[in-house]
Amino acid sequence: MAEPQRKGELLPEDVGTDDCLTSYTHIYSPDLLKDQVAFITGGGSGIGLRIAEIFMRHGCDTVIASRNMDKLKEAAQKLSAVSGCRCLPLCVDVRQPESIAAAVDETLKQLGRIDILINNAAGNFLCPATALSFNAFKTVMEIDTMGTFNTSKVVYEKWFKDHGGNIVNISATLGYRGQALQVHAGSAKAANDAMTKHLAVEWGPSGVRVNAVAPGPISGTEGFRRLGGLRVEAAGVFQSIPLQRAGNKTEMAHCTLFLASRASSYVTGAILVADGGSWLTSANDVSMLLGIASSKSAKL
Ligand code: NAP
Repeated sequence: MAEPQRKGELLPEDVGTDDCLTSYTHIYSPDLLKDQVAFITGGGSGIGLRIAEIFMRHGCDTVIASRNMDKLKEAAQKLSAVSGCRCLPLCVDVRQPESIAAAVDETLKQLGRIDILINNAAGNFLCPATALSFNAFKTVMEIDTMGTFNTSKVVYEKWFKDHGGNIVNISATLGYRGQALQVHAGSAKAANDAMTKHLAVEWGPSGVRVNAVAPGPISGTEGFRRLGGLRVEAAGVFQSIPLQRAGNKTEMAHCTLFLASRASSYVTGAILVADGGSWLTSANDVSMLLGIASSKSAKL
């Protein structure tokens, strides 16, 4: 999906589907993550898949972990083919610590180490608070917040405690101004932002850095499609964003690469907002967003 490009702005390559890039120009040194291993939850689609690809194009082996094994296997094949690095698909539900523990054991058995953990798995949909079931709210908290804690704790205890490491949590800006129709995801990500700082404080002495990237609207993702995607873009909604466009998945992967690598060696407890300035200026219009939600099946 091509974003409008303006003078002086050079966007990194992206494709709007869950496919690998057809070309890639390195910004960072191609061996920035050489011989490292990254464990990426939700790495089989969307932003997580592009993070896996960009890391692998910098010499990193990856584990992509989520619930749908068929999707993961297909993604792992594509990722290894474009990068020449290893990609291990593992079945994990981040709500179940024992499934995480088994995947981390398998990672250490097959790849020998973990240097980076990306907590990217999440569930999301648009829904007004009055229509949100107790179970739907709880499920999003369980995947986004408990899932991030569960995975961080398992990886810390099994490897990072003794070897150090880097955690990057994929957050969101939804809670900053109380984004309409997003009380579930906004609350979950706000808790994760607090967790990012708590764990940075407690685990820093063990050589573990903990940071977050907070994306704005990102093209070529499920979240973007649910927000009305191209229709919203065509209606000129992004003109109100300071950078006047949606972001792309490769841009999010580059921010994540910065925080996961030695390029940010003195950074911990930070939340890198990567939204083109969106949260500062975008409308938080309940009726407009209700229009989008009612034209879709807004369910988990
Ligand atoms: P996505 O493609 O739907 O990615 C979510 C991933 O999480 C999927 O691969 C899914 O795989 C996995 N997942 C869901 N529940 C899981 C569970 N219980 N256990 C393990 N894995 C689970 O969405 P995305 O848009 O790329 O979002 C990626 C991250 O960016 C999320 O944290 C999201 O909140 C954040 N974000 C996105 C945007 C945006 O514009 N797209 C904006 C702000 C923040 P399975 O179905 O195989 O489990």
